[in-house]
Amino acid sequence: MSPSVLGNVVKQQVAKEKGTSKVGAISRRSSRLVTGLASHRSRVRSHICGKTQRGSNLITDNRCRLKVQQTGGQSGGTMDLPLTDGIFCGPSPLVMHVPHSSTVIPDEVRADLLLDDSELDLELKKMTDWYTDDLANIALDRAGLNARTVENQFSRLVVDPERFIGDEEPMAAIGMGPVYHSTSDLSPLRLPDPIRDGALIDQYFRPYARMFTKVVDGVLADCGRAIIVDLHSFPTKPLPYELDQHALRPGICIGTDPFHTPDSIVAMAIESFAGLPGGIALNTPFAGTYVPLKHLGRTPEVTSVMIEIRRNLYQEEPGGPRHDGLMTVASGLIKFLSRVVWFGA
Ligand SMILES: [Zn+2]
Repeated sequence: MSPSVLGNVVKQQVAKEKGTSKVGAISRRSSRLVTGLASHRSRVRSHICGKTQRGSNLITDNRCRLKVQQTGGQSGGTMDLPLTDGIFCGPSPLVMHVPHSSTVIPDEVRADLLLDDSELDLELKKMTDWYTDDLANIALDRAGLNARTVENQFSRLVVDPERFIGDEEPMAAIGMGPVYHSTSDLSPLRLPDPIRDGALIDQYFRPYARMFTKVVDGVLADCGRAIIVDLHSFPTKPLPYELDQHALRPGICIGTDPFHTPDSIVAMAIESFAGLPGGIALNTPFAGTYVPLKHLGRTPEVTSVMIEIRRNLYQEEPGGPRHDGLMTVASGLIKFLSRVVWFGA
C-alpha cells in the first residue's frame, strides 16, 4: 500500500494484541466464522441482475433482484438452505454478510431474558447494528451488482453467529460468548443454564454456520473464489463490555485477517471510504473478519474483510433514525463493492 493510498488511515496492526476483539464478530486472531441462524428465518438473498430467474421459490421485484426466504421446516437444527445448483448462477464472487441488524427475538427466547421491556428496548438500541441491512441493499442495488446476501433475521441477543464456541471465544469470560449472559453494561441478561445454551446453539448458531458455509461453497463452485464483506456498525462511545475502552474509534473500521484479507482489498476500502468523517483505521475498535470455519486458514480463494461503520455517521444514537449521512456512507460502500467485484482478490 502506498502512502498516498493510506491517506488519513490510522493503521493499528497491533489492535488484536491490545485486546480489541470485535465483539460480535469474528475475529480476534483471525477469522471466524459464520454461523448462524437459521432455523426459521435466516435469509439468503441473491441479487442477480440481468439474469432470468428460475425456481418456484424465487421472489422477484421489478429490478432483477431475486430473494429466497428460508422458511421453517427445521428439525433439530439440521435445516439446510433451499439452494439448488443452477438457480443462483450469477457469476459474482461477492457474499454480503449482515449479522447484527435485526431486533427480532422469538417469544420463547425473550421469556428467558432478565430485562423488562424498557430495559430490553434500550439494550437493543445499543447493541444492534442499525440499518446495516439497508446499507447493504442500497449499495448492491445502486451498484447493480450480483451478490448473495446473508442476513441474520434474529437479534444477536438470541445467539451471536460471529462468536466462537468454547474456550476459543475470549468474550465468553465476560459472559458474551455465542449466547450472551451479560448485557452491554455487564449486567445479567440470562441466568446460567448450560442445557438452554446448548439448545440455542443447536437451534440457531449451528444451522446459521452451515448455511453460511453452504453459501460460500456455492460461490466457490460458481466462481472459483469468494469475497465476504462482513458489514457492521459500532457506537460512537464505547459500551462498558468492550475490552479496550480507549481504542481509536474512526469513522470506518476495516477488520482484517492475516490469511484471508489481501492488501489489495484493504487498499480498495481505504480509497472507497476516503473523506468520510472520522477517517479510516484498521482493526480498531474491533478486529478481524468472518470466515466459515471450514475455510478458516485453509482456503486462500476465500477472501474476507469486515467493514464497521461508526453509527453517528448515519444515525442518531442509540438506535435512533437515520440521517442524511447514510447515503454518504452508502456511496463509499457502492465504490468499495464495485471495486472488489470487478478488480478484487
Ligand atoms: Zn456487529
